[in-house]
Amino acid sequence: MVPKPTKQRSIRFLALLLGLLVCLCAAAGDLTKADIEQRFKNRTVQVGAARASGSALRVGDKLREVPAWPLFSELTPDAGPVGYVFETVDLAPIPGFEGTPMNLLVEIDASGQFIDVEVLRQHEPVFVGGLGPAPFDEFVKQYRGRNIRQQVKISTGQSSARSDSGANVVVFDGIAKATASIRIANQSVLGAALAVARARLGFASQGDSGPPALVKKLPLERLDLDTLIRRGYVQRLALSNAEAEKLFAGTDVAGRDVEALQSPDDVFIEVYVAYLNAPNIGRNLLGDAAWASLQSHLQDDRPAFWVATRGRYPLIDEAFIPGSSPPRLELVQHGLPIQLRDANRDYARAPVLDNLNAALILAVPPLAGLDPGQAMDFRLTISRARGVILPIVIQKQISLHYVPPPELFDFPPKPLPEWLQAWQGRLPDLIIIGAALLLLSGVLLWPRAISAKPRALFLFRMAFLSFTLVFIGWYAQGQLSIVQITGAIKSLVAGAGLKSFLYDPVSLLLIAFTLITLVVWGRATFCGWLCPFGALQEFVGLLARANRVPQWRPPARVSRVLARSRYAILVLLMAAAAMTPAAAVKMVEIEPFKTAITVGFRRELPFQLWAIGLLLAGAFVYKFFCRFVCPLGAALTIGGKLRQWNWLPRIDACGQPCQRCRKACRYDAIEPGGRIVYDECFQCLDCVGIYHDTARCGPKLLFANKGKTIRIHPLKQAQ
Ligand code: SF4
Ligand code: SF4
Repeated sequence: MVPKPTKQRSIRFLALLLGLLVCLCAAAGDLTKADIEQRFKNRTVQVGAARASGSALRVGDKLREVPAWPLFSELTPDAGPVGYVFETVDLAPIPGFEGTPMNLLVEIDASGQFIDVEVLRQHEPVFVGGLGPAPFDEFVKQYRGRNIRQQVKISTGQSSARSDSGANVVVFDGIAKATASIRIANQSVLGAALAVARARLGFASQGDSGPPALVKKLPLERLDLDTLIRRGYVQRLALSNAEAEKLFAGTDVAGRDVEALQSPDDVFIEVYVAYLNAPNIGRNLLGDAAWASLQSHLQDDRPAFWVATRGRYPLIDEAFIPGSSPPRLELVQHGLPIQLRDANRDYARAPVLDNLNAALILAVPPLAGLDPGQAMDFRLTISRARGVILPIVIQKQISLHYVPPPELFDFPPKPLPEWLQAWQGRLPDLIIIGAALLLLSGVLLWPRAISAKPRALFLFRMAFLSFTLVFIGWYAQGQLSIVQITGAIKSLVAGAGLKSFLYDPVSLLLIAFTLITLVVWGRATFCGWLCPFGALQEFVGLLARANRVPQWRPPARVSRVLARSRYAILVLLMAAAAMTPAAAVKMVEIEPFKTAITVGFRRELPFQLWAIGLLLAGAFVYKFFCRFVCPLGAALTIGGKLRQWNWLPRIDACGQPCQRCRKACRYDAIEPGGRIVYDECFQCLDCVGIYHDTARCGPKLLFANKGKTIRIHPLKQAQ
């Protein structure tokens, strides 16, 4: 290998292409308040436990601290927002594979439950024109009714959305061929929703604590009340009359509780809380039979608490409606209110505790996202009134900070980041492709063993190209594309980095390998061995020759001129991506990769005809698309200027007079004078094989017989 001179012109050309992309737009929201109002106008939405029509909801002004519109209920206008609407691009602008962030409109209620998610804007190559937008629209519907605190897993199976691990993990149906794009969408939705929940719902990140704890299977212990309280299985908060009076000090109702003033040390209220799903709590507190009946009554393993009070102030009054939420009690975890509902009072009588004035079994809805292993607050509202007609009512809250006993729970490990899950899911594919790349590297570094034997080279090449087409292309979806280059530059210009590539590990592995080989061998390694559409053209060409389809080999000079067209197409595409992105999305269809490889020809007729037409052209003119049209090939050729070595061996006699290699090179990458045109070389190794095979390389055999030294010709190397 001989060091290669620098190419100033190519670097200038590359700089021009990059410059064309510098004026790309930054991420920004698409909607105004009027747009949001319009969307709610004729809709009925489920906000928390209540159904509300658009007329009963008012959209507030966009918030300053977090870019979201609050939703207010017209029925309770002073009760604060009942939900929030926001665009993901404002809060979690993660670039997709086209280089710009997708934008989804997300609606959540005040408990962190998703009301709806809608796709506003996305240019993901796999959906635009490929699979179409419908699968993506269907995917985002799966968020409805789920809670921000639930862990979302994305499957590639065909079953419907479902829950596991006690309904705190939900599994969404993925979309085959678009896994990386929907992982980015999921990150965008969850990232934006968490940002709003943290800013407005006092919500701590689920990532801080990992997935919800699961009740541990433990042998049953018989425990009395003292032990239950001592171990924290039953937790208690007591308030004396004096302490209750202190709560209202300085208000209009201070000193109005005569009994409290007379007996300040007597109990005003005692609150007891216990988590019933743990058998060592539930069975000891309620008794075996009542606990077993309760378990069959509660569905979906929903968390249930026993809450009871003693003293002068009961948990509920006579107006309480069975089956509803007790108005005086609120459950809050990580600052997020969680709904509690009366499950069945018949089981609430606890034989171990007497003199209760109220006892309820309160269940948490299955999707509310409660983590029973994390601390939570039971807040009891105490009201005191003054006056009869238009009374002044003052309310104060006391809080029982409930810390679940850790020995009763298993704590599942924190989930891996979304991008790492993508890598984990593709590990077998990555190992297979990695092994193939190692094998290819070995052959290209030491080509003599295989290339000197034409049959061995042919078999190896056909086998590897079959692997490239079937495994890398159709199965693993590893077709690289010009969209990835424009997307990467757009992301960098917008300051969003290249994180989106992490979600597509197969492409990232191939990109990394291609970048390394650009420096070592130029564009030839990718185009000659790793491009699935290139491999498909190779097979079409082979089939055509086997069937004696007439081949047209343009004269070398014509071929050089035609090859320039691919650079013109590349410049046009870059300019369109910078100035008219919508047009660029259509223009990239000049690449038939999505049609022929990504969706396996399952597309509309015009796209199919374009891809088939290009393959047919390749049946008459060898690798027609690669040599005269492909903008990715052009970009790689420019990148190939980084190549540091001339790796094709040449001797004095190459081209003077021997034309053997030149005639064998179907890519016309060897000039009549014997010089290699590396920009056109596809590393097929045919000429390498001839060079190493004295039976085929006439001059070499001649020189060897005459005892002459074979000299490398430096001029023939420089290109
Ligand atoms: S020129 Fe284009 S289609 Fe041909 S092998 Fe290279 S990237 Fe693939
Ligand atoms: S025969 Fe042509 S394409 Fe193949 S390695 Fe030699 S120069 Fe490159």
